[in-house]
Amino acid sequence: MTEKSIEDTGRFASMVAAKQGWELNPDADFTDSLVEGLTVNANRYGYYLCPCRDTEGSRQADADVICPCAYSWADVERYGHCYCALYLRKGFTAGGGVPTGIPDKRGSAPG
Ligand code: SF4
Repeated sequence: MTEKSIEDTGRFASMVAAKQGWELNPDADFTDSLVEGLTVNANRYGYYLCPCRDTEGSRQADADVICPCAYSWADVERYGHCYCALYLRKGFTAGGGVPTGIPDKRGSAPG
């Protein structure tokens, strides 16, 4: 895989947000640090491992936490943002929402 740049990952994150009808966290410093984490993971592991989680050792074992992770849709719907709070429900912060720590559904029963 070719080396990912911060710009590549920024474009990727914007594309995911647009495609899913989400928005990126408007806190630019926070979002930049997550984009950087995704970039480091992509170049280290070869895929966009969630920057808020640890690898289980292989792409196959990490399939549920490759960004956008398998839990993101339910989390955005329920809490207004994904586990990392990179992606937010459209209008979440404009409506006064503040991202908070939410439970990591990885390894727990769906729901
Ligand atoms: S919680 Fe999921 S959607 Fe959010 S940054 Fe991590 S992998 Fe991506």
